[in-house]
Amino acid sequence: MDKKFNPFKMAQQQFDEIAEKLSLDQGTRQFLRNPQKEMHFSIPVKMDDGTTQVFQGFRIQHNSARGPHKGGIRFHPQETVDTVRALSTWMTWKCAVVDIPLGGGKGGVICDPHNLSNREQEQICRGFIRAIAKDIGPLVDVPAPDVMTNPQHMVWMMDEYEKIMGGKFPGVITGKPVGMGGSLGRTEATGYGVMYTVREALKAMGIDIKTTTASFQGFGNVSQYAIDLFQQYGGKAVCVSCWDQADQKSYSFIKESGINLQELLKITDKFGGINKAKAVELGYKVSDGNDWLIQDVDILVPAALENQIHGENVNSISKRVKLIAEGANGPTTPEADKVIHERGIFVIPDFLANAGGVTCSYFEQVQGNMNYFWSKEEVLSKLDDAMTKAFTAVYDLSKRKNLFMRDAAYMISISRVAEASKNRGWV
Ligand code: NAD
Repeated sequence: MDKKFNPFKMAQQQFDEIAEKLSLDQGTRQFLRNPQKEMHFSIPVKMDDGTTQVFQGFRIQHNSARGPHKGGIRFHPQETVDTVRALSTWMTWKCAVVDIPLGGGKGGVICDPHNLSNREQEQICRGFIRAIAKDIGPLVDVPAPDVMTNPQHMVWMMDEYEKIMGGKFPGVITGKPVGMGGSLGRTEATGYGVMYTVREALKAMGIDIKTTTASFQGFGNVSQYAIDLFQQYGGKAVCVSCWDQADQKSYSFIKESGINLQELLKITDKFGGINKAKAVELGYKVSDGNDWLIQDVDILVPAALENQIHGENVNSISKRVKLIAEGANGPTTPEADKVIHERGIFVIPDFLANAGGVTCSYFEQVQGNMNYFWSKEEVLSKLDDAMTKAFTAVYDLSKRKNLFMRDAAYMISISRVAEASKNRGWV
């Protein structure tokens, strides 16, 4: 990854452009372009070999004008405070674009779970909560899983919070396992949400999804379920890419006749890494990790990390590509965005496309408050309604005002958050 790339600067640049278009006053701009609160802390852990290792953790609370901060916790060796700041900011816009009563937050720990035992990971989870327990809570800030964290991590975190606070507080965290306050459909929510918006975009463009092909970056939670629903809709996925931990580089896995999701899942580890040798045996062409971007397909779905489509590779996107659905957060730099805009490729921006996860987390909160849980069909049908409604509002505005989809989505979100901040008398 480009070491000079700063996702928070990019988030602020995107905000500044829209603030200008909305003619926001200086005070509101200053307030919304920075987080309300930041926590930076050390998490000392007694490792299995008897040594102590100290991990760096962050929780950034961007904005709570529309409701409690909400956002995942990522475990990643290359985590930086600016990545967490950017993701926290994008969470604010994401919750606003799908119109749920939540604000933005995000957390991260610089660590690599590939190299940590379960016990060590549990200690990181508990240490993370001990550091911030007084500043989170069901009505204050509600974390969730994200890259390389999962429902088990969430249970450890909830348990530590409950020990500190005394009592049961299932609402302190979402993404809990089903049966422990989790919602059915949460695992599918982000990937399916991406595909609900792809379905609507293709409808708006007059393209039959059954005639389309797609290439995906990443083969984790988001990508796997996006591919699942895409295939259920009749689309053909021809390429996925993923990170190879042993080689410390990424690879693309290509099958022109269409990848078989189930057979690939059988040879994929829990981090979304595909076994190369077994993929070759199954007839996949294994090539460079960047090749997912140059496939001759109709749809590209970046669903791995930020900063993946940039100035140096944007021109290698095939002429056939009509739609980019951003499953990941911040996968496209402003420089690449400009080129994509000029080429007339339809973009479903990240904070709209991948809002299914937080929408389902909100459903988890609603069900938890009622202490009554919906069937998976009910959850997914409500999710489809919410995503379709959000997509339609953004698309209608983009048509009415002749705006790029990303700008239209930002106009809706930023206006909503600015208005809530004003109504509260904060700005
Ligand atoms: P994950 O950890 O389950 O999977 C990530 C995938 O990306 C893995 O297959 C990994 O091998 C691959 N990957 C990592 N580095 C790569 C590289 N350089 N090139 C190609 N592949 C690479 O993560 P996820 O939950 O699927 O999240 C993916 C993206 O979606 C992230 O940007 C995350 O912030 C965003 N997101 C996730 C959710 C959610 O609910 N999971 C919600 C909103 C946004």
